[in-house]
Amino acid sequence: MKISVLKQEDNEVTFEIEGAHPGFLNALRRTAMYEVPALAIEDVYYTKNSSVLYDEIIAHRLGLIPLKTDLKSYNLPSECSCKGKLCAKCSVKGSLKAKGPATVYAEDMKFKDPTVKAIYPKMMITKLLEGQEIELDFVAVLGKGMEHTKWSGCHVYYRGIPGFDTKNADLDKAFEKIPANVAKKTGKTIEITDYPKWLPAYEETLEKNGVKITNSEENFILTIESWGQVAPEKILNEAVSILQQKLKEVKLK
Ligand SMILES: [Zn+2]
Repeated sequence: MKISVLKQEDNEVTFEIEGAHPGFLNALRRTAMYEVPALAIEDVYYTKNSSVLYDEIIAHRLGLIPLKTDLKSYNLPSECSCKGKLCAKCSVKGSLKAKGPATVYAEDMKFKDPTVKAIYPKMMITKLLEGQEIELDFVAVLGKGMEHTKWSGCHVYYRGIPGFDTKNADLDKAFEKIPANVAKKTGKTIEITDYPKWLPAYEETLEKNGVKITNSEENFILTIESWGQVAPEKILNEAVSILQQKLKEVKLK
């Protein structure tokens, strides 16, 4: 199997994978989305809440705020030496205090570990009017997306590289609507030059003009879009080692 990077941005990486199988790609996708851990707020303890939002609603909003996660610094509570009692190795405590009139943002949360912080500081938690107040403590823990989506750190998708049958096609007409920096045609051959920019709409245009399209079952374009907790290339590495660990557990008799 050969993997190369086609496009790399802070929170999004697109890979070309050659010589794989759809089953493997799907296992990798599911592992990355549902088994690679991320930090999220799990418990909230209120001292004051006179805002218009109920305690449960604020707790729900806090839980969904993506938090910068260093997977080396924290354990999953279920795998920690404290056996899930939430020690400093598997949880991080914090607090939030605000008095109206004010808009309360994710950046107002204070964590005991300064390396943990909200990735999008201006995510709004609530608005407070004159005289309204919130004061609460919270605990964030590592978890997996398979348990709750707040612990899922990414969206992963892939597709087989398209192949084109252009025997009965009018390529001149089709290419009136396909930008020159995405694909080019030489005679009856179509070559995609920029996969990350290739859209389903271009395939519809080709099909309307007589091109038959089949997707490869061996060569794929895979994209990992991270919400920011863990970098996409780390998500891929982590997903691969989780898959390897799982395969080790399978013993053939
Ligand atoms: Zn622990």
